[in-house]
Amino acid sequence: MTERIAIVTGAARGIGAAVARRLAADGNAVAVIDLQEAATAETVDAITAAGGRAIGIGADVSDSAAVASAVARVADELGAPTILVNNAGILRDNLLFKMTDDDWDLVMQVHLRGAFLMSRAVQAHQVEAKWGRIVNLSSTSALGNRGQANYAAAKAGMQGFTKTLAIELGRYGVTANAIAPGFIQTDMTRATAERIGVPFDEFVAATVQQIPVQRAGVPDDIAAAASYFCSEEAGFCSGQVLYVAGGPTS
Ligand code: NAP
Repeated sequence: MTERIAIVTGAARGIGAAVARRLAADGNAVAVIDLQEAATAETVDAITAAGGRAIGIGADVSDSAAVASAVARVADELGAPTILVNNAGILRDNLLFKMTDDDWDLVMQVHLRGAFLMSRAVQAHQVEAKWGRIVNLSSTSALGNRGQANYAAAKAGMQGFTKTLAIELGRYGVTANAIAPGFIQTDMTRATAERIGVPFDEFVAATVQQIPVQRAGVPDDIAAAASYFCSEEAGFCSGQVLYVAGGPTS
């Protein structure tokens, strides 16, 4: 298959790391972007140890200058990027009456501004190549979730953003799709359990009772969906939101 150049943001750990490893196993060279370059080493080493090509870059996806220089570095060191997975994310959960301005702004900046800045920078290479794949991480929280007014709004926003990219970029051979995971075991869900004061095992067990397939999700469940959306054969699938949640979501 053709080697493509992929960028995965927030790929030092969790879902992003699994997506980066999977896209590399699929035959792509991968730029692993996260806040701290040092934190990307584990993912980069896993890819290179398996015979793949990867570089790690430290960049805050909500910072326009950092995004421009990160994408330029990918083009220089790996080649023009034509696959982008906007995965970087944070939580600042709180009930509406306790949610601060900063809680709201930070979540919007990382998820929405981050996906916007990265997509705008990468589409230049995709349009030039007349081929591209963009995958945005949404969430089942887009449907509404107590304590997540900021995150739910951002993740619903990711869906509208995805559909608009699909409409604008389709004529250049670029598809855009969103994955909306349900409960996935990562540091993010571990931090949620900690915040509400429940041991992680108990938190997982209680959540699993609500999931039809009777298990929690793992990062590789999301990587498998991302692999499909980024594949050659997914070229007629665009503007879709795939809920990967172990059952129906409404
Ligand atoms: P995670 O384990 O917390 O990993 C997120 C990664 O993003 C971390 O490495 C983090 O870096 C990085 N990051 C945060 N802000 C960044 C920024 N401004 N620029 C660059 N990188 C940044 O989260 P996850 O559970 O793997 O989630 C990945 C994505 O899936 C997120 O968009 C999340 O909202 C979404 N999602 C997750 C679940 C779930 O159940 N886990 C469900 C639905 C959707 P630091 O470590 O330095 O902070």
